[in-house]
Amino acid sequence: MAIDAPSSPNTQPWSDRLRHSTIILIAAALALSVLVSLGELSALPAAIVFLCIAAAALIPWRLHDAAASRDDVRRINNPVESAAVAAVVAGMPDPAVLLDRAGRVIHLNAAAAQLAPALRRNELAQFALRSPEIITALREAIATTEPRRATYLDHVPVDRWLELMITPVPVPTTFGGADKCMLMTFHDQTPLRRVEEMRADFVANASHELRTPLAALSGFIDTLQGQAKDDPKARERFLGIMHNQATRMARLIDDLLSLSRVELSAHVRPDTLVDLLPIILQVADGLEPLARERQVDVETHLPDAPVMIAGDREELLRLFENLIENALKYGASGGRVIVSLTPSTATDGAQEIRVMVRDFGPGIAPEHLPRLTERFYRVDVGDSRSQGGTGLGLSLVKHILNRHRGRLLIESVPRQGATFTACFPQAKTPALT
Ligand code: ADP
Repeated sequence: MAIDAPSSPNTQPWSDRLRHSTIILIAAALALSVLVSLGELSALPAAIVFLCIAAAALIPWRLHDAAASRDDVRRINNPVESAAVAAVVAGMPDPAVLLDRAGRVIHLNAAAAQLAPALRRNELAQFALRSPEIITALREAIATTEPRRATYLDHVPVDRWLELMITPVPVPTTFGGADKCMLMTFHDQTPLRRVEEMRADFVANASHELRTPLAALSGFIDTLQGQAKDDPKARERFLGIMHNQATRMARLIDDLLSLSRVELSAHVRPDTLVDLLPIILQVADGLEPLARERQVDVETHLPDAPVMIAGDREELLRLFENLIENALKYGASGGRVIVSLTPSTATDGAQEIRVMVRDFGPGIAPEHLPRLTERFYRVDVGDSRSQGGTGLGLSLVKHILNRHRGRLLIESVPRQGATFTACFPQAKTPALT
């Protein structure tokens, strides 16, 4: 929104109006002199009538002019209303409104006009603002001329947390002294709030995930110290369960640490050239016992020549381990998993390497696909836990790919299986950019 220069309410030029009045007076004088010369009117009443007409023609616009020129003088003499102040308000990145002492809008910028379309120059801001928090803060700031702050949630068109700050700003006047105006600025706190919510959710989820196996462990310790103390069979069974719970806790802590390590180094792209083939083969070999246990055939379709990317070997091992293990755990019913590597071209024309892990299991319903890489998100929590899952695997995969400046594609047709594709930018050998 452009900040318009204040328009004068007195638009008719002074000379025009004087000319109109003069014509009226000449016409009146002529008419009266004709009447006097015809003897229809004596001189004194004619003079009185003329004076009345003259007053009627001149006094209203003089009064009007006087008011308008007082306004002009105020505008010219008052730096608050100057173009420079308007430009400063217009140039502020956040929504900003400059108010006079009474809370009337003097200037507002485009962002403020967008945020509160009812705000109008020269009108009281209280009438244009919907939130009771803002109105209260504004009233208090006007009454006390002290800074005020208010936070409120705007629901339209989307949920947004906004912080309002009202700061008294003494603007110097031409004749010395200062006019106490108020600068009202709005700051969008939505991204910060979202991060804060995510952090709180994460802590709550992590504590919950750790507390569950911990509760099981302490329960079994109590049982082993009590009624199962002298029962070797029960002891054996309980120790087995305790071992599984401890393994689950260790895995969870391991995944949490890996996630935080990858996040910490997210801005540093790995710069070592690594060959993807031995990494994929090492993971497939390592998961051979799990594949045998789940009766799944793992097929690897890999080229013969090395495929180099700029990567972190340990992180890449983690990445493929998660994808292939998920395929073996959740897609075991398909009996087959294919791991393939192909060079490809991204939509922006960049050359990339795609490693595809495809299973033929139950697949994933489309509504879950966008959320799979969220921390602790699971399609079926019970199923994931019974498989030893932590709900962090795909989140870790996404972060590792982000660090490698790659991306994860997830496709699935329910009852036909799922395909997870890790896309890496092709290395520009020998020097990396
Ligand atoms: P988890 O530790 O639970 O395996 P992940 O982040 O690796 O956590 O996966 C999140 C969820 O995605 C899993 O709980 C599972 O519901 C679903 N999922 C992952 N891979 C597959 C797959 N190949 N087939 C079906 N569902 C899968």
